This record gives sequence, structure tokens and C-alpha cells, in this order.
Amino acid sequence: MKEQSKLVRSQAKRSQNREHAVPLYLTSSFIFDSAEQGRAIFAEEEEGNVYSRYSNPNTTEFIEKVCQLEGAEAGLAFASGMAAVFASFAALLKSGDHIVSSRSLFGSTHQILTKILPKWGISTTYVEASRPEEWEAAIQENTKMIFLETPSNPGLELIDLEWVGSFKKKYPDIILSVDNCFATPYLQKPIPYGFDLVSHSATKYMDGQGRVLGGVVVGRQDLIAEMMFFIRQTGPAMSPFNAWILSKSLETLGLRMDRHCENALKVAEALEKNEEVEVVRYPFLPSHPQYELAKKQMKAGGGIVTFVVKGGFDRAKRFLDALQMVLITSNLGDSRSIATHPASTTHSKLSDAEREQIGIYPGTIRVSVGLEDIEDIVSDLEQALENSK
Ligand SMILES: *Cc1c(COP(=O)(O)O)cnc(C)c1O
Repeated sequence: MKEQSKLVRSQAKRSQNREHAVPLYLTSSFIFDSAEQGRAIFAEEEEGNVYSRYSNPNTTEFIEKVCQLEGAEAGLAFASGMAAVFASFAALLKSGDHIVSSRSLFGSTHQILTKILPKWGISTTYVEASRPEEWEAAIQENTKMIFLETPSNPGLELIDLEWVGSFKKKYPDIILSVDNCFATPYLQKPIPYGFDLVSHSATKYMDGQGRVLGGVVVGRQDLIAEMMFFIRQTGPAMSPFNAWILSKSLETLGLRMDRHCENALKVAEALEKNEEVEVVRYPFLPSHPQYELAKKQMKAGGGIVTFVVKGGFDRAKRFLDALQMVLITSNLGDSRSIATHPASTTHSKLSDAEREQIGIYPGTIRVSVGLEDIEDIVSDLEQALENSK
């Protein structure tokens, strides 16, 4: 079967009730047929669910679908994207280890790397996406992981996955890990390039409807096994309810992403023509400095468009207030279009210089383009530009 068919057809084993849709397994533990079976499952001689902190049929189904999409050997599901990202560091690294990471990161990931991991003696060196020569120079003897996000948030800078994947030959022991949340596995698959781990906030496009939190890490079997020990003891498990929602959502991921990307490209093109806009960033716009790379490693440009409005900070805020349909919220990857002003919200704690380093200017607006009719999205953005002069 092709990827899309497998995604729709794969599901938890049917029960004796012969249900069509998968039931919700709201159970904290699972029974054993005999004391001997309990022993065998605990000894890992027999496979089986024990306790929902370890595994649950709904989370297993969700993980299997993400593994299929990413081409991964194994995976784990988490209560949130941040639990997934944190576990990939905490389970696999120890005191004295070093991470090389791209600088443009999701805010909480930046906080983990700079405020939490140093407490346990794990250090990080940031490198710029736009300066590839920095990457190899940053690798030390104790470097155990290279971590990155592409496209970056909200600057939509790209990192060449094939190039980073090629580090594997020279540094086989360094774990290559990528947060693939912005692109989704429908648009971009890092594992064939040599990446060992791929993490996601399932809260974004995987749910795609702004309902539940979730996270997932998939990748190399041995690394996932090491992480499994960590999460079984520490308990960041995804709830079966969220897994049930997310698993069903994945069946429409491709359909939704096609429309997100189609709408986002049209929004980017319309904004590029608008006199009130200084610059537009979208990976599949020919004006994007990495357009060729985008075409190489992504199937389409994604659902996020970033632009700089003329008039800076105050104009950007007036623009948001003038929007009528598009809502102001910091989430992304929703069926509803969303606008955010990073300089006054998600990235307000950074200095102007730090913001500029990652492509955020006082007038930067990030739009998560939704699934509404494209004419309504474009006309709302255009009227808000006109009425915020
Ligand atoms: C939202 C997001 C996260 C965090 O995910 P949560 O589900 O909110 O915990 C991590 N990385 C990226 C790129 C994100 O957009």
C-alpha cells in the first residue's frame, strides 16, 4: 500500500466487539491471563501492555503511524512536544556531554538548552544556519548530539538536511536530531538523509485543529529503547485520549497540508505585491534566499508565512488589531488562520540584537495560514494592512 493508504488503514487490533473505528482505551492498567503471563510480560519475553505510563493501544497506534510517515524503526509518544524534546536530551545525554544546536529554536527548547541542561553539566554551542562553516568548528570531543529545526520559527530559514546528514560519516557517534514540527513528515523526511531522531510537537499540524497537546520522537531502535527506559520511569506519557484524537487526525494530514501550503503560497504572493509590506519570507517563494534548497528537501513550502510590515513595532500591533477574521494567538498549525507578533509576545524576552540574529524585526508578523477560503484570508490581511496605516 502507498503511504496515504497505510496511514488511513493501519489501526489497533480489532477487539471481540468487531468495531470499525478504534475504541478509546481509557484504562490505566491491563490484566494478565495468568501469573505466568504477568511474569513473561514483565521479563519482556512476551509483548503486551502493562500500564498506560508504559504503553497503551491508542498511543501505540499513533506512534506506528508516525513511524510509517517518517520511515522510522521505532518511536515514543509524549504528553507534549516539549516533553518529547526534553526526553531526547535527558535520556541520551549525561553530565559532561555537549550539544551543537542551530540558534533559531522554539522558545522552550532554547530555555532547556540554556537554563536547565547546564544544571546537570550538559552544555550547548549555538551555530548559525546561514554560516555552515561554524558547524564543524563547533564540534568538540564531547559533542554527543547535533540538534536543529528547519524551517526555523519564525524566520523560516532552512538548514540543508543532506549536508548535516553527511556529518554521520565523519562523526558516527554523534546523534543527529531534528525537530520536524514546522514541516511535518508529509513535507520533509529527515531520516533518509542520515538523521537518527525526529521529534514533533503533535499539537501543531498533526492535530491540526487546535485541540490537544502531544509530542512524539521516532528514529533509531537502539536510541528509542534507551529513551523508553527513561520515560517509563519518569512518566511523560501521552494520554490515550490525545493519542486517539491524533491518530485519527494523521489520516487527513496530507490533505490538510496540501491546502495549508496552497493557501500559504497565495498569501505570500499577495503580500509580496502589497505596498505596505517590506519583505515576505516563504520557502516556496522564488525570492526566498534558499528557494532551491526548499525545493530539494521539502515537498511544498509549509503553512507559515512571515512578513515585515512597514512602520515597525506599533504598526505591527495596529495591523493585528485591525484583523477581523484571522485570530491573534500564539499557536500555529491550526485549521483557522492565526497571526502573531513575535517581537511583543513569543520573543519579547530577547534583545533587539538577539531578535535580529534570528530574523525577527519590530514589524515582523507570523501568519499560520489556515484552511479557510483563500479569498477570505487574503482579503482580511489586505484590509488590515490598509486600515492600520
Ligand atoms: C510548539 C512547538 C514545540 C513545543 O510543543 P508543545 O506541544 O507546545 O509542547 C516544539 N517545537 C516546535 C518547533 C514547536 O512549534
